[in-house]
Amino acid sequence: MSNCIFCKIIAGEIPSSKVYEDDKVLAIRDINPQAPIHILFMPKRHMSSIMALDETTSEDVAAVMNAIVKVAKDMGLSEENGLRIINNCGPDGAQSVMHLHFHLLAGTKLGENIV
Ligand code: AMP
Ligand code: ZN
Repeated sequence: MSNCIFCKIIAGEIPSSKVYEDDKVLAIRDINPQAPIHILFMPKRHMSSIMALDETTSEDVAAVMNAIVKVAKDMGLSEENGLRIINNCGPDGAQSVMHLHFHLLAGTKLGENIV
């Protein structure tokens, strides 16, 4: 998608702080971190949101989830210290970048509001 900021980051046209990359997934540090660890995981293929997923995107989503767990473990995260994964979708979900991504938040005791 030519006007998608995350597609431009994936293409290397906009700089980012890369944490992880494989053939299907890119993970970058959020530019406006909301926790000591705040990483965005996205499929390299453009898909607008979680509501754009179907049977043709299953491998991309599985790769994103596997990458989240790998990076989290590499950072020393576990069920003992914990983490939070957030996906925002559409206007009511406060999604600001319309390229599917999951936030990994960790490194502090997160608030109990909003699940
Ligand atoms: P969302 O509101 O769920 O769509 O999340 C979009 C996230 O992307 C926000 O947390 C932004 O801080 C982050 N963001 C926007 N532009 C960039 C960028 N160029 N590099 C890294 N993170 C970004
Ligand atoms: Zn995109």
